[in-house]
Amino acid sequence: MANKQELADARVLLEVEGLQKFFHLRKRRFRGTPTVVKAVDGVSFTMREGEFLGIVGESGSGKTTLGLSVLRAHAPTAGKIMLHLPEQSYDLAQLSGEELRPLRKEMQMIFQDPFSSLNPRMSILDIVSEPLRLNGINTGVEEAVRDMLVQVGLSPEIMLRYPHAFSGGQRQRIAIARALILNPRIIVADECTSALDVSVQAQILKLLEGLRRSHNVSFLFISHNLAVIEYLCDRVLVMYLGRLVETADTEVLFQTPKHPYTAALLAAVPKPDPRVRSDDKAIYDGDIPDPANPPPGCAFHPRCPHAKEICMKVVPSLREVSPGHEVSCHFADDIILEGVKIAN
Ligand code: SF4
Repeated sequence: MANKQELADARVLLEVEGLQKFFHLRKRRFRGTPTVVKAVDGVSFTMREGEFLGIVGESGSGKTTLGLSVLRAHAPTAGKIMLHLPEQSYDLAQLSGEELRPLRKEMQMIFQDPFSSLNPRMSILDIVSEPLRLNGINTGVEEAVRDMLVQVGLSPEIMLRYPHAFSGGQRQRIAIARALILNPRIIVADECTSALDVSVQAQILKLLEGLRRSHNVSFLFISHNLAVIEYLCDRVLVMYLGRLVETADTEVLFQTPKHPYTAALLAAVPKPDPRVRSDDKAIYDGDIPDPANPPPGCAFHPRCPHAKEICMKVVPSLREVSPGHEVSCHFADDIILEGVKIAN
């Protein structure tokens, strides 16, 4: 984690306001009324320079769609995505493909699966240097790749080899080198350690933490692994059915969660002590509802043990319950929930 004061003093780099991404699905070909899936529905947050911002939630909560929308891999349905560069600010949501092109180098992505994200027909040199060439940089390419490989803990000798020769952890290091070679300001990392063995995960997490400091890059870190989030992230956004239900500094969120969904996610984390049981039931009582047909009122009410009548009718707004801690629950001030400490 970054020093709190340093982070508070850092410049706001990204400001997302009321972001929506809806998908229109037809029930049957050429027939029926379109079904609207609100994958991201009115999400607002800011990210500072050098910040690790975690996004957590179950599958189907909209984490990946949010990450892809911020990168403008998806065109948003509504909302603002303000990228504040030192010289100028841009609303990425309003820019055309042509206008976005010069800004692409500021934002890169690391994918979950290092086995499918690297082209098996390209050498490591070609893979890592691809973003340079796509941005018209053709001089000093080999030196840049050599330097980048060293920074991610690989030998430059591997440049002429192909991805099949490497383990999952080494491939993810190659993917990180590719993401960093243009010195981006933002990296969206989508479950980037979940396909790796636990010991390799720890090495990659340490590498990302070091690179954040050396490159002053901000990470939007999407993960369902709360131990990883607790270890790495400065702040956390908790998503449920396309909306933010809680945002807070990592320590505050883990120790004093205020939304029943966050508490349930924390309760389900496997505990390192075999005598202490995780409360899987806290989260798995009922599935996440169909995003095409979300429940009225608070979308979490069918699964919430604290639900009252108002929860079935009125959507709770996201409000600040203490400085920097926002919760979307009608009873956030009344319910006492348990936190956890996972990382040592
Ligand atoms: Fe539970 Fe009601 Fe709070 Fe939703 S608003 S989380 S249903 S108590």
